[in-house]
Amino acid sequence: MSKRNTSGFVPNQLLLDIASLNAGNLSAIETIAATQRIAQAAAKGTVRYKIAKGASERQIYTAGNASRLPGTKARFEGDKATSDNVVNDAYEFHGKMRDFLLQVFKRNSIDGAGMNLIGTVHYGKGYNNAFWNGQQMTYGDGDQQIFATFVLIDVIGHEMFHGVTEHTSGLEYSGESGALNESMSDVFGVCLRQWANGHDVTQDSWLVGPGIFTSKVKGAALRSMTAPGTAYNDPRLGKDPQPDHYSKLYTGSSDNGGVHINSGIPNKAFATFAIAVGGKSWDVALPVWFESNCGANRVGPNADFSDFAKKTVDNCTKMFPQHVAALKSAWNGVGVTV
Ligand SMILES: [Zn+2]
Repeated sequence: MSKRNTSGFVPNQLLLDIASLNAGNLSAIETIAATQRIAQAAAKGTVRYKIAKGASERQIYTAGNASRLPGTKARFEGDKATSDNVVNDAYEFHGKMRDFLLQVFKRNSIDGAGMNLIGTVHYGKGYNNAFWNGQQMTYGDGDQQIFATFVLIDVIGHEMFHGVTEHTSGLEYSGESGALNESMSDVFGVCLRQWANGHDVTQDSWLVGPGIFTSKVKGAALRSMTAPGTAYNDPRLGKDPQPDHYSKLYTGSSDNGGVHINSGIPNKAFATFAIAVGGKSWDVALPVWFESNCGANRVGPNADFSDFAKKTVDNCTKMFPQHVAALKSAWNGVGVTV
């Protein structure tokens, strides 16, 4: 199994559910097919980009609702704002992620070596996803029936952090290691939003992807870190499938063994720990997670929840010994004993 994750922000299983619950919603099916084509192109290395090493520059393209990558140049580093606010938002949020990695973790871009931050907006017609393909980010406009947009700061942080994980722990994208990989991206996407807004742990919703659904959908977001399983419940989507405790672990084979389902368990452990510590999530909780996934004392690619939890306790003991009790309590609270 490849470490590379070319699946999108919206899990295929949810797109399949949407297709079966909404006869005639071709956007869901077309989104899955298009994402598969992109994954195959990425695996073959047929997509080429200008990647200047060490520059860490933003390069935003538009696909103009066609499906060619990277598309035409829309706004590169230092260019003035354009008349297209989707382009401007992508430019802004890519910059926030770059600054967050550099200022908080002294990491120079996704690969740690200043790789350019490349993004393509307006991908496809009614394309219902955003993804990282190992080289760049891509964003659809959504079908405007269920999905409103994917150019959101936590979505961008989530997808780019898949690139960081790929370059560090390399957590395998299946089973518990895959759910940890997914959780890591949710954690960093949500903390990026908190950092960009200057919000402490009490001021944020802890939702993943608030704003991706249209107002017609009964759902606040795609996932909830503090209350997994409660993010949406709508006849056209079904119900948020995330468990909030290890005793309810999904053990089936769909979604690569539940990578977007079981991520609710470590997500809740992180949110509980960060809220117990208080203040800004990137001061204590996030550095412990970063060290355990990306630092010198990090887990290996096949880590399970228990391995990762032990690693966070080990790192927290060295970094913030006064918070170890709260960390153990957070893991024990979701049924992962440390
Ligand atoms: Zn993901």
